[in-house]
Amino acid sequence: MASASHVTIRRRAAVLFIFVVFIMVGLIGRLVYLQSWRSPWLAENATDQRIREIPVEAKRGIIYDRHGRELAVSTSSESVYAIPAEIRNPEETAAKLAALLTLDRDALAAKLKKRQSFLWIKRKIDAAIALEVRKLGLPGIGITQENRRNYPQGRLAAHVLGFTGIDSQGLDGVELTFDSYLRGRPGAIVIEYDARGREIPTATHRYAPPVPGQNLYLTIDTVIQQIVERELEKVLRETQAKQVSIIALDPATGEILALANKPDYDPNDFAAFTPKLWRNNAISNAYEPGSTFKIITTAAAIGEKVVQPEDRFFDPGAIEVQGRHIHCWRQGGHGSQSFVEVVKNSCNVGFVNVGLRLGADAFYRYFAAFGFNKPTGVDLPGEARGLMVEHAKVKPINIATMAIGQSIAVTPVQLVTAAAAIANDGVLLRPQIVREARDVEGRVTRAFAPDPVTRVIEAKTAQTVKGILEKVVEEGTGRNAYHEGFRIAGKTGTAQKVGEGGYAQGRYVASFVGFAPADNPRIALLVIIDEPVGPYYGGVIAAPVFGTVVRDILQYLQVAPQGGPAGKSAPEAHVAVPPVINLPVADAIRELKAAGLAARTEEAGDRVADQVPKPLSRVPAGASVLLYTQTPRYAAGEVTIPDLTGLPPREAATLLADLGLLIAPAGGSAGADRQDPAPGGKVAPGTKVSVHFGDAGKFGNTGNTNIKPLAP
Ligand SMILES: [Zn+2]
Repeated sequence: MASASHVTIRRRAAVLFIFVVFIMVGLIGRLVYLQSWRSPWLAENATDQRIREIPVEAKRGIIYDRHGRELAVSTSSESVYAIPAEIRNPEETAAKLAALLTLDRDALAAKLKKRQSFLWIKRKIDAAIALEVRKLGLPGIGITQENRRNYPQGRLAAHVLGFTGIDSQGLDGVELTFDSYLRGRPGAIVIEYDARGREIPTATHRYAPPVPGQNLYLTIDTVIQQIVERELEKVLRETQAKQVSIIALDPATGEILALANKPDYDPNDFAAFTPKLWRNNAISNAYEPGSTFKIITTAAAIGEKVVQPEDRFFDPGAIEVQGRHIHCWRQGGHGSQSFVEVVKNSCNVGFVNVGLRLGADAFYRYFAAFGFNKPTGVDLPGEARGLMVEHAKVKPINIATMAIGQSIAVTPVQLVTAAAAIANDGVLLRPQIVREARDVEGRVTRAFAPDPVTRVIEAKTAQTVKGILEKVVEEGTGRNAYHEGFRIAGKTGTAQKVGEGGYAQGRYVASFVGFAPADNPRIALLVIIDEPVGPYYGGVIAAPVFGTVVRDILQYLQVAPQGGPAGKSAPEAHVAVPPVINLPVADAIRELKAAGLAARTEEAGDRVADQVPKPLSRVPAGASVLLYTQTPRYAAGEVTIPDLTGLPPREAATLLADLGLLIAPAGGSAGADRQDPAPGGKVAPGTKVSVHFGDAGKFGNTGNTNIKPLAP
């Protein structure tokens, strides 16, 4: 019974299947027929319409800096198109055009025979060539206006601006995020043709004009951007880092005044650079911040009142948390200190204690308020969000390491935004990159007002934190950021990079975050030096960059020097670092001691090849100068060998050092009488010049004369 009905069902199913297959085959056959055999006929009918539309590109909006200086402009450019249906002789047309436009003749001919209503031959060509094409008067070939994007400042602010593609569409930077403002709407020229494809001269040509794009005014200040890029290029050269970044913003408005990464690229010719260089690391890179993150721990601890500035802490050198020892960076520990001293010394053990006092709930509340673990919402593409242990899974050991900026990843823009919130008396503002958009008549179509996100700490807490961070620069680990007369507040950071299976040996990120003037901040700034070669402490290599950039910006903003904190004179005397490059190490150390400075040698050679800070930098008395004996860090390019004849050793050494050359001295202590290479030759910086000095008496004993450097 059951088996019989099964057979019936199976037979019915088979019949149905065959029926469906027949229908499918029929449909496919019809499709193939229409697509291939009937296709020319269909296309002929389609292109036989008498109306043709030639697109007219809208002029893309200009990008200005905050003071109306041009950063991106569009210049008119001409493009050659074809209307294949109007072409009489495709072979001849292709031959003539291919010669003029340096195109492949056969490929072009094949293209022109296609049944298409419109196609581009070559876009954005030179005006002279466009004129030649016009002169040919080829039927079915025309020229229309397009735009070519131009960045008159070259590489300046490349990572902010981004670039555009062949259709003038934004591909990166604000060109991408504000494409809808900049783009405008394309227009068209409508041309009527007779039945044989000739343009009807008397027919009405309709012109739908394009709507030009809006102009953008960025928050960027070209001068501040230049200051920042100049110092970045310098520090990239000096530290041979993998990459370096700076973000500068106005803490009162959240406006980004400068943002740059080096190495960078030229947006005029972006395709010639590896896409890796297009990446905006300042917003796309999440990194372990290290000690700079202690400003967040400090703000949270003061805000939660778990610590007072004068509370005492004891650092025996290490602290045990969940069976793991966390060491202070200072061997043997800092001993007994106040909380202010803990911050000044960047004491790990002190901060671990503070973090544990705060506890997970409070700490995570501040992380969220300060905007970590979510993008800041800056209007630039590719922003990362950072990384941290989930609140529900966090253990005391995580709290302990996060308190010192480890086992957490943040983006540079997150960290500088958080620092700016402290500077802004506790109110966190969304960082912004565009001030306003205007139409071609100059009317403001959209203005971007400061965008407060949340209050992270009370104003009074912010004041306390600012005071402590100012002490870090005056007397603590941030001393190298100090400049006489400027009240700078900030924090150094040095973090070991995380590699596969733990921390990566010898790979560090040195950084400095802060703001100035401390009592009325005009600028918040973050410096990041990623994988420097040689010294890697943030206090040694990032703090001086921060100090120089902030000093130059404040001078540009006409913030008068204040003569030290609270109107007092500077807490310490400052001295100029004497030039000691090319001196024997022992002499260099003696020279530095005489100037009231300490010396530290990083390498084992016997003659100084380079020094940090550079000669004539002003530093607090007692600061350390790093001496290198093997790794000079010089500018690229060539230098001319000077004539050293008659110069005593010290003068010859100083002169060569100023030029970036090394000395290999021989002979006595009087004037030079032989040198190799000879004067006038061109050599790479860092080249060693052998100099022979005469015996004392021949030129007079001038070997120990103290010489002023030639040029500051
Ligand atoms: Zn310590």
